[in-house]
Amino acid sequence: MERIENDYVFHRDLKKEYPIITHGVGSYLIDENGKKYLDACSGAVAANLGHGIPFIGEAMADQAKKAAFVHTMRFETKALHQLAETIGKMAPDQLNKVYFTTGGSEANESAMKLARQYHRDAGRSQKHIVIGRWQSYHGNTIGSLSAGGDVKRRHAYTPNLLNYAHVYSPYCHRCPYDRQHDDCLSNQNWTCVTDIERTILELGPENVSAFIAEPIVGSQQGAVPPPPGYFEKVRELCDRYEIVLIIDEVMTGFGRTGTNFATEQIRITPDIITFGKGVSAGYAPLAGMIVHDRLIEGLIQNSDGKFIHGYTYSGHPVAVAAGLAALDVYKRERVLDNVIKQGDYLFNRLLELKQKHTYIADVRGRGLLIGIELVRDRELDLLFDPAEKAADRLNGIAMELGAVFYPGAGSIDGTKGEHLIISPPLNAIKKEIDEIVRILDESLTIFKSLERK
Ligand code: PLP
Repeated sequence: MERIENDYVFHRDLKKEYPIITHGVGSYLIDENGKKYLDACSGAVAANLGHGIPFIGEAMADQAKKAAFVHTMRFETKALHQLAETIGKMAPDQLNKVYFTTGGSEANESAMKLARQYHRDAGRSQKHIVIGRWQSYHGNTIGSLSAGGDVKRRHAYTPNLLNYAHVYSPYCHRCPYDRQHDDCLSNQNWTCVTDIERTILELGPENVSAFIAEPIVGSQQGAVPPPPGYFEKVRELCDRYEIVLIIDEVMTGFGRTGTNFATEQIRITPDIITFGKGVSAGYAPLAGMIVHDRLIEGLIQNSDGKFIHGYTYSGHPVAVAAGLAALDVYKRERVLDNVIKQGDYLFNRLLELKQKHTYIADVRGRGLLIGIELVRDRELDLLFDPAEKAADRLNGIAMELGAVFYPGAGSIDGTKGEHLIISPPLNAIKKEIDEIVRILDESLTIFKSLERK
């Protein structure tokens, strides 16, 4: 209590005490007592190259010494152009123009506003509703929270949220529409897709501006990839009803799932890709969106080239310097190769752990974005009560043992289902993967012994 009373920081949880981190080395964080935490979730799936890379720190310091702030309403820097070009060239063909923000929420906010302006200025003035998915997270601002499905956070602000619509995302392992996977495969009549069309028609296509989705669902579902073909069907619907398709790669972008963007794996061309986290490997607050030429042409023709939007820190030089340096490290260190190698290894080790612990009902994911579904008993198919906060408690045990994971809830329909994301830095080595699995194994054993008491 004494510490809480003397603490001027407004923490997320005012009653909780947080370890004070003094520094980081590679995949480890070290607190003021010298305790080491293996960062098995890259912070918030953001510190994708681990900690303490002098090259990135020096690039940021050099830029800060040259020009600390340049207002992009009036000026630009060469580094801004270089970073935009690098990102534009990594993105799918036809997505070329890059707009910068500081965080992923702002990136999604920008994308949804751009979709609205694009339609309005082309004479489709009623198109304003965004359709999102229950098992999704797009950020914490009112717009991004309105589009996302974090039920707890939404509930706290319900009267303030925008009137956006939601469908369920595919979760074939426990279909929220109660369909059987084999049945869907044989007749190609997927409720997770027909429900999108039903929603569009119910709202009136003339009112629907955008559809937003994560390619592989992160924090709200625990690294769940879509069934093959899902996004092709979504793309068709968006084309049919003139709806802007926004793919939120804030968590998946820049190699996390084994390709530069997970969009490459879902085999579609979105209208907008939003990104964040990994672009600067967490060294600076940096995010943004990559926009399809069609939208840019629309803006030039119908809006006099002006996007009615903007942030003070858009394209901040020090953040941009961090981004350029981080992307350089990804490339030079052939990080993508490591993601595939260590991702496969981690996945297989987790499958072994599933044999041992009946708390694990499912192991899924791509690259180094892997999730496990946690249940009370796999054999009996007994779920945890959400109030039990099983994933949070398991992570608490792991932190005691020296590793930190990314716990989450709501994987099944936005309200039920517990999961843990395992997403170490993309340059993690085999020894660290083994340590992650060992600590998770021990944590599950301790969790079990506590459950029995
Ligand atoms: N979109 C996705 C998929 C995310 O995972 C997150 C953050 O976890 C966000 C958006 C929001 O990003 P930020 O917290 O940087 O605003």
